Parts: sequence; structure tokens; C-alpha cells
Amino acid sequence: MGKTSKDKRDIYYRRAKEEGWRARSAFKLLQIDDEFNIFDGVHNAVDLCAAPGSWSQVLSKKLLNENEENPDRQRIVAVDLQAMAPVYGVKQIQGDITNINTAKEITSHFQNSKADLVVCDGAPDVTGTHCMDIYIQSQLLLAALNITTHILKPGGTFVAKIFRTRDVTLLYAQLRVFFPYIHCSKPWSSRNSSIEAFVVCKNYSPPEGYTPHMMNPLLIHKPCDFDELTGINRVIVPFVVCGDLGQPDSDTCYPLNFEGKEYTYHEPVQTPIDPPYQEALSLLADRDTDFRRPDVSVVVDNLNSMTI
Ligand code: SAM
Repeated sequence: MGKTSKDKRDIYYRRAKEEGWRARSAFKLLQIDDEFNIFDGVHNAVDLCAAPGSWSQVLSKKLLNENEENPDRQRIVAVDLQAMAPVYGVKQIQGDITNINTAKEITSHFQNSKADLVVCDGAPDVTGTHCMDIYIQSQLLLAALNITTHILKPGGTFVAKIFRTRDVTLLYAQLRVFFPYIHCSKPWSSRNSSIEAFVVCKNYSPPEGYTPHMMNPLLIHKPCDFDELTGINRVIVPFVVCGDLGQPDSDTCYPLNFEGKEYTYHEPVQTPIDPPYQEALSLLADRDTDFRRPDVSVVVDNLNSMTI
């Protein structure tokens, strides 16, 4: 796909580059905050599955004073399997959110205190097999919830990506064990055509006697006792659209001069620094060198010089 055709297609992609966000996802967190005020009273925050870092940029902007010469480096921690370029005032951990050592490392950065807010925009690499992708995404959400029970203060907030599919109530039921207030939200910047949404869970209140443990499945105290889900499954989680009708729709193509400005192409703010597809790109580059297409201008010159 050409550069400008992608720019043309997606106004949030275009805006992200204009405003200096590393990914269009930044708008999702900003619109969730407009609706739920998730940053109110937040001192320590954790961004799980953070690369390339647009949510960390939002946390940095909302929680830190950019004019400080030495920002308090213990307040925001970002975790991802992949390396990420630095973000102002954000401590980075390259690690796996399913690993207990990652939880320990996070709390050690807060001097053994805990976080007021944990956000997770985690997504596994898609396999293309729909039900498998949904299953893996659900497992990632459960892993995020699990590590959150180690690092979130009672009363804290958890925001995470969720796929709204047939069995999503099982996830709501699981979240309800730990949070009395849960909303499922869909920011305007998240495409309507995508099953992605975000759970906003407030007032973290673990059940009495609950001890966080990375090895246990979380399900309702007694693992695999699905019968107990019957009652709690009747709880309806409110669905909220974040943003108002004045904001552009993420599924619509807008003209390049849509906002009354002359269009200028911007390079991406930050490309991934060590993406897993790097090897594939280098293999492709080698292949292109081996089987290079003929240069069209040379072919045309040759044709012109031919005498019939
Ligand atoms: N919120 C990010 C932003 O705004 O730039 C985008 C996150 S991206 C959609 C999903 C990320 O989840 C990927 O960078 C991936 O490496 C990460 N991820 C997936 N599984 C993970 C795991 N087990 N531990 C840590 N990160 C993981």
C-alpha cells in the first residue's frame, strides 16, 4: 500500500503523525480518559504491552511535567516483549507479562509501592484462525489481570483491550471478581469494523483472602468451577461509546484537506526498533536483489534505439 493511500484512508493514523504520537492507539486512551477520567489522582502507572509506545506517551504527557529537568523516573513503567524507543520519564522493562519476575521488577521500580493505574493494549501476533486469535487474546487479558493483581493498589483502575465475542461474559465474570465497576467502552478512534473494545475497571477490590499467584488460573477462586459462573454471568456490563459525534469516524475515508489544512506527508513518528518481522524484511530484500525487475527506463531506451 502506498504511503499516501494509507494516510488518506485513516484520519487517526494521519493525525497521530501530525501530533507526534507513535501510533493511532493514543487516541483510544485519550478518548477513554475523556469519558472515565482514568488519570484522576494517579501517581504511579503501568503500561503493559506498551510497544511502540503511544500509550506510554499519553501517560507521560498526562502524569509528568515535561519542563522538569529530572522527571521522577519511578512513576511510569512500560513493559513489552519488544524493545521500544525511550519515552520521556518512562522506565522500560523488556519482558513478558506472564512472568512473575516482571511483576517483581515493576514493583521494585515503585520502591515496593504499587500502581494506581494499569493499562494494557496487549495483542498477540494474529494467526488468521479467528477462534484461535480470540482465545489467545483472552488469555493475554487474563495474564494482564493476573499480573495486575500483583501490582495494583486497592482502589486502583485497570483498563485493557478485550475482544467482544460470544463468550466475552466469561471474561467480564472474571473481572467482576476483582472490580465492582466495569464498563466496556468503544472509543471513536477504534474501528467499528473491529471486535476490539476496552474494559475500564475501577476500584480494585480483591476477594478476602486472595493471594496473587502467577501459576493459578484466576477463574472464580476455585479453578474450573464453571457452575459458579451462572449467577455472575447475568450481570450486564454497560457498553459506552467514548467520544462525541463531532469526532471523525475511524471507518470513514476523509479527503486530505478534510480539516481545512493543506495536506503534508509526515514520516511515522517512531518505527519499531527491533521488530520480529525484521528477519523477514531482510530475506525479502535479498530476494529482490536476486530477482530484480528490469529497470523500465532502460527497457524503453533500448526499444527507442531499435531500428525496425
Ligand atoms: N499500546 C501500544 C501503543 O500505543 O503503542 C500498542 C500495543 S501493540 C497493539 C501490542 C503489544 O503487545 C505488542 O507490542 C506485543 O509485543 C505486546 N505483547 C504481546 N504479548 C505480550 C506479552 N506476553 N508480554 C509483553 N508484551 C506482549
